[in-house]
Formats: sequence, structure tokens, C-alpha cells
Amino acid sequence: MTDSYDLVVIGAGSGGVRAARMAATYGAKVAIIEEFRVGGTCVIRGCVPKKLYVYAARFHDMFDVAQSFGWQVDASFDWPTLVAAKEKEITRLEAAYVANLEKPGVEIIRDRGLVTGPNGVHLVGQGRDLTAKYILVATGAHPFVPPIPGAELAITSNEAFDLPALPHSILIEGGGYIAVEFATIFAGLGVDTTIIYRGDCILRGFDEDMRRGLEAGLTDRGIKLIYQTTIKSLAKHGKDISATFSDGVTAPYGAVMFATGRNPNVRGLGLDKAGVKLTPMGAIAVDAWSQSSVPSIYAVGDVTGRAALTPVAIREGWYFAETVFNDNKLAVDHSQIPTAVFSDPEIGVIGLTETEAATHGDIDVYLARFRPMMNTLSTRTERMILKLITEKDGGKVLGCHILGSGAAEMIQLVAIPMGMGASKADLDRAIALHPSAAEELVTFKAPTYTYRDGEKIGG
Ligand code: NDP
Repeated sequence: MTDSYDLVVIGAGSGGVRAARMAATYGAKVAIIEEFRVGGTCVIRGCVPKKLYVYAARFHDMFDVAQSFGWQVDASFDWPTLVAAKEKEITRLEAAYVANLEKPGVEIIRDRGLVTGPNGVHLVGQGRDLTAKYILVATGAHPFVPPIPGAELAITSNEAFDLPALPHSILIEGGGYIAVEFATIFAGLGVDTTIIYRGDCILRGFDEDMRRGLEAGLTDRGIKLIYQTTIKSLAKHGKDISATFSDGVTAPYGAVMFATGRNPNVRGLGLDKAGVKLTPMGAIAVDAWSQSSVPSIYAVGDVTGRAALTPVAIREGWYFAETVFNDNKLAVDHSQIPTAVFSDPEIGVIGLTETEAATHGDIDVYLARFRPMMNTLSTRTERMILKLITEKDGGKVLGCHILGSGAAEMIQLVAIPMGMGASKADLDRAIALHPSAAEELVTFKAPTYTYRDGEKIGG
């Protein structure tokens, strides 16, 4: 039996769900195939549960500061309570995703989909074949685990959310988003936490002040950082796992987690048979409209190796539906994406880093480091950092980098004027809101330092 559709989407994560819903809204006959849970990484084992766990971990800091405001806190933490509450919430969200698909008439098929050709999809479990005018691959990505002896003893972010119990200690390999966010979570929940990273400072590619500021913040919270080292092998050590490092040192940990990047889910999808070309990094190669080398096959989200962020996948899915099913050709602008790292302290960034901007021409850098008001009654010395990078002499804002409480919320709003091409003079017209941390962004008087002809002046 063959069923025909205008669109078959493989993968019901952020990008796939948005594309399916929008296409159905425009009158297309749509099926979406999902072999796991509807919602994808973001809802089930990514952004949403991560942020819930970050909230849980941040009570640690809050209890710490609370005493300086006169509170006496005698708190204890129960991991199973958090896991169960998280599960309840993601189950609620999953049901909402299902309802939102069903409302415009999208058929949800619980199976594994295999591309058999430019217009064919095979359902592995049901043994059924579908034909589709268009196929959208939105299968996401999976954690990459370095192929070392004993790697199977370690966990990834997939397993971290549902551990039966919190380990007494954890070693996390990697220096990216997931490593620092989970280090924040585990340390905040009382786990003795170590990050091991092959580079010389976490968050490669971020602005240097953000990297160094976060490094100090993690260290202040008792997180140990081991640099220029990797894990060479893992072995059982009683109830613990013993890790041997590239420098020959061996140490036992209650758990070991790899946060060493994520690879696109392309294997076993039949893409090669259909003639879909991949990038050198193994992602599906697509053009600005998310069309692959096979004209009837499109791809959105992490599987395309563009920006691996939920809102980007959602926008790609939406614009795909506009382009293909609403006669409204739209390409996603990937040039100015706000992003946040939900570590403690938090980071929010948009635009160019100082190093990048300095190679683009003459720039001014406005930098504020201050003790947030929340900390002023306590002995905490942690500084908040706000950095604004503009073209010289009050020109266009090129980048904004914030480290500290509320950074993610602030940067989302900064993204609006930046998207409109705002200049420093535009920010200056805003009246400050006092007392707030964000007021620093509109009260910078003179640059802290500048770059002229690539040379740093002042600072
Ligand atoms: P990242 O790419 O951010 O970081 C991967 C880290 O692993 C890097 O530090 C990298 O080192 C290191 N690494 C890679 N390969 C190896 C190896 N073979 N041995 C040792 N170390 C290695 O990936 P994540 O897994 O942290 O996250 C994946 C993506 O998911 C992110 O890039 C982001 O797009 C998204 N994400 C976004 C979040 C958010 O918006 N808050 C939260 C979580 C994930 P090096 O720096 O040297 O390359």
C-alpha cells in the first residue's frame, strides 16, 4: 500500500514540527515521522529540561546570598523530585506539540523513516511506503563520543537528565555550551565537578572577556578546570570510573560525561541512495532556502550543520513552508543570531567578538565590569561584564556581550535594535532604567578603548 502526501517530514523536533504545522496550515497534506518522542532534542533532552535543571542549580547561589539579606536557610536537595517534575513538564509539552500538529491536520506516524528516492519514504517498522511531492529531513543531531577504550562507561547529555542518582563527582570532557552548562548544573546540585578540555580556555569562539569571566565564575563555584588535556581511556574502578588522561594521570570519578560536540543524524536514512549531497562535516548540504542537491528534498535544523539552535531550526522550518507551500520565497538570515550560555554566570551574546570586529575596521569598545547590586550586601566579589562593540565614533553596533545574571534576557532585546542596524547614538537616546544592570548599555559615555588600523589604543 502506498500513501501519497504533499510533504513528508522525517523528525518531529523543533524544525520539523514548525515546517509540518505551517505547511498543513497552507493546505498541504502532511505526514511527520518520529521514532522517539515528539518535541525533539530541545523539548525532551535539551534546552527545556536543561533550563529547568539550571534553575534548580541556581538555588545554591541564591541560598548563599540570601543570608546577606537576613534569611536563615536550611535547605536540602532531592534529585528524584527534580527528575519527576521535569518529566511531568516535558510530557505536558510533548502533548502540546502533538495537539498543535493534529489541529491543522498533520498525520503523526510513530516509526523510523528511510528515504528511498527523491519522492519516496519507507516506514521501517510498518514496512509501508509513502510517496511525497516534497520530503523534509529534520532529524537533528546526536552527541559525539570520542572513540576511546571504555567510552561506553560514560554518559552524554542524553543520559544526564535521568540518572538514577546524582554521582558524588563528575568529570565532563569538552569546553562548549553543554560542558559548561552541565558543569553549572552538577556543581550547583552539590556534585564535585571537573571540566577537562583540550584547549586553553573554555568556549572557544566567544569573546575573550566572556571566556575569562566565565572561567573565573566556574572556578569560584568550585568547578575544577583541567586544560590542554583529554581523556585517553576509562575503566571500571569499583563503583567509580577511573579516567586516564593524555598526560598519564589517572583519577576516579563517580561519573564521566562527554560534551564533545554533536554530529548530524544522517546515517541509515538512505540519503546517499536518493543522491543527497553532504557537506565535508557530514551534514546535509542545503542552499539558502534549505533545498538539498535533490530538488524535492529539503532539510532544516541541526542535520544541516548550520547554527545548531532551536530558534534557528524553527525559523528554517517556517521559511521552508513559506517558500514551498505559500509561494513566498524566504531565506533565513544566519548572520545575526543571539545566543546564550545558561551557565553560572550566564552569558548572552550577539554579533562580532572584539577580535573579529578589530579585523573589520576601526572600532570602539565600551566595557563595564561591576558588582551586581544583588551581591553588594554579601561578600561575593563576582563582577558582571557588559561589552559593546561599535564602529568608530558612535557608529553601528557590531557586537554585544554580556556576562552575569539576566544576560540571556538582555541579549534577546539587544537583538532588536541590532537587527534594525542601530548605532551607538541610537542606544544613547534611550533613557536609562535605574537601578538595573542593563542601564549600563545606554549610559556608556566614552569608549573604554579603541582599535585604529588594527592597533589597540588605550584600555
Ligand atoms: P560545542 O561544539 O559547543 O563544544 C564541543 C566541545 O568539545 C568543544 O570544546 C570542542 O573543543 C570539544 N571537542 C570536540 N571534539 C573533541 C574531541 N575529539 N576530544 C576532545 N574534545 C573535543 O558542542 P556541545 O556538545 O557543547 O553543543 C552542541 C551544540 O548544541 C552547540 O554548538 C550549540 O549550537 C548547541 N547548544 C546550544 C545551547 C544553548 O543555546 N544554550 C546549549 C547546548 C547546546 P574545541 O573547542 O577545541 O573544538
